[in-house]
Amino acid sequence: MLEVRGLNKSFGSNHVLRGIDLAVPAGSVTVLIGPSGSGKTTVLRSLNALETPDSGVVRIGDVSVDFGAKPDRRSVTRLRAQSGMVFQSHHLFPHLSVLRNITEGPTVVQKRPAAEVRTEALALLERVGLADKAEQYPYQLSGGQQQRVGIARALAIRPRLMLFDEPTSALDPELVGEVLSVMKDLASEGWTMVVVTHEMRFARQVADQVLFMDGGVIVESGPPARVLDHPEQERTQRFLHRIN
Ligand code: ATP
Repeated sequence: MLEVRGLNKSFGSNHVLRGIDLAVPAGSVTVLIGPSGSGKTTVLRSLNALETPDSGVVRIGDVSVDFGAKPDRRSVTRLRAQSGMVFQSHHLFPHLSVLRNITEGPTVVQKRPAAEVRTEALALLERVGLADKAEQYPYQLSGGQQQRVGIARALAIRPRLMLFDEPTSALDPELVGEVLSVMKDLASEGWTMVVVTHEMRFARQVADQVLFMDGGVIVESGPPARVLDHPEQERTQRFLHRIN
C-alpha cells in the first residue's frame, strides 16, 4: 500500500532524514516512535507532501512520486489526496461549523456534490460519536471532541491511508482515551494507518509494526512485542528505558 525508498530531507545544514525506507502493507498499522527531533513528523509530512523531500520515492497505491526528479505539481497533488492527516492540534477552521469543517475539503477541493458530501459527513460524525455536534463551532467542543472532528475531516476526503501526528499529545489526560478509541476502531475496520505517538500501550495493542527512529534513520523495526519489549539496538533500549 505505502512504500518509501531513500527519503532524504535537509533544512539548511540540518540533515533531518537520512535515507528512510519503509513499507506499510494495506490494512496494517505502523507506529513511529523516537526521541524529539529524530524526524518522525518530517517523515509523516513527507508522506503526503506537506514537506518536500530532497530525494526519495513515496508510493501510495498506484500513485508514485520521485522527489529527486523534481515532480510536477499535479503528481504531488495526487499523492497528497491519497492520505488523510490528523495533526497534534486539530487545525479546524474556527469560523466554520463542525459540519462545514468536514465538508469543506470534499466540496471545495475535490468538487464533489454537496448533498452527497453532507450525508457522508454526518455519517462520519456519527462514527466518531459526535452526531449531535454538527452545527456547533470548534470552540464549543472539548479538545478530545475537536480531535475527533479532525479525524472525521481527514476521513471525509476518502483517503487510502490515514496519518496521525501525535494526535493525543496536546490533550488533557482524561481526553486521550476517547481519541485512541476512535483510532482503534479505524484500525479494526481495516484502515491502513501510520501513527506517530508516545502512547506505548496503543502501540502494543494496535500496531502491526513499530519503527524506532533516531537521528534521521530508522534504527529498528518489527512487531511491537519485539521492538518494545526486546529491542536489539542499544539506542532503542536507551530510549525505551528513558520513557518507561
Ligand atoms: P518531536 O517528537 O519533537 O515532534 P520529531 O521526531 O517529530 O520531533 P521533526 O519535527 O521531524 O522531529 O524534526 C526533525 C528536525 O527537523 C528537528 O531538528 C527540527 O528542528 C527540524 N525541522 C523540522 N521542521 C523544520 C522546518 N520547517 N524548518 C527548519 N527545521 C525544521
